[in-house]
Amino acid sequence: MANPAKLFDVAGHVAFVTGAASGLGLAMAEVMAESGATVVMNDIDEAALAAEAARLEKAGLAVKPVAFDVSDAARLQKAIDDAAATYGQLDAVFANAGISSGPSHHLSPDGAIDRVPLDLWQRVLDVNLTSVFLTIRFAAMHMKRQKSGRIVVTSSIAGLQSERMVGYGYCATKAAIVNLVRHAATELAAYNVMVNAICPGPFLTNIAGGRLQKNPRDRALFEEMVPLKRLGLPEELKGLALLLASPASSFITGAIIPIDGGCTAGS
Ligand code: NAD
Repeated sequence: MANPAKLFDVAGHVAFVTGAASGLGLAMAEVMAESGATVVMNDIDEAALAAEAARLEKAGLAVKPVAFDVSDAARLQKAIDDAAATYGQLDAVFANAGISSGPSHHLSPDGAIDRVPLDLWQRVLDVNLTSVFLTIRFAAMHMKRQKSGRIVVTSSIAGLQSERMVGYGYCATKAAIVNLVRHAATELAAYNVMVNAICPGPFLTNIAGGRLQKNPRDRALFEEMVPLKRLGLPEELKGLALLLASPASSFITGAIIPIDGGCTAGS
């Protein structure tokens, strides 16, 4: 008889997670490490990354922090190359780091199309789109050679539809990476590399300066748009993250998977 636990067995695997010091990326790093993988954790916030990595190490998990800005292409490539060289394999890469692009036009006059600062627009493109493209590219260079691998990209429900609560740069980049994932999936399928996107609805994390934690009005507006009438907790992302990195998803590629409490089902 088959052992169902084997479906989710990633023990001995090597994972790389960007934006891993907080929120969803931290949950991804945790679930992989808790399942026996070695996890290279990246974040731009060196202090938070060191603290989270130390906490996980103290719990007996195999993690390694590497602090840098994912928009620094040379550092990104070196970190991914180093992970593959140090551990001899690269099984799962989570292109997760992402930033807010400020409020939407529904929430503030500053979100109007004629007011969006171009430097903010460009920064959001660099972090949420170009860095995701490069993370896939640098991961693929190893995974093509290995003829195996899993790449998981964090998009958003704001990549699937106009989203009342977020700004232009965020909606545009999160949509762009949805089709980037489909395109990469069709190329990398020949190498047994699966590429998928997850599209979270509102989760209680530190994004946008922690506004969902700090601002009761914004939190209530987000809760109202979710059919489950609550925000997701980062812990609730762990099952999907593990699924997409594990043998259980061996026939899933190019998929765009909402995890949103029902938001995209309509109201
Ligand atoms: P978060 O702010 O709690 O965590 C994001 C982490 O990424 C932080 O630790 C931050 O320091 C790091 N980071 C930011 N810019 C970086 C950079 N240039 N280089 C390296 N690290 C960087 O937010 P989160 O909600 O966990 O966000 C994770 C991903 O989930 C993002 O791509 C976000 O767009 C996406 N997402 C979040 C929600 C939500 O409601 N929280 C919904 C949909 C999608």
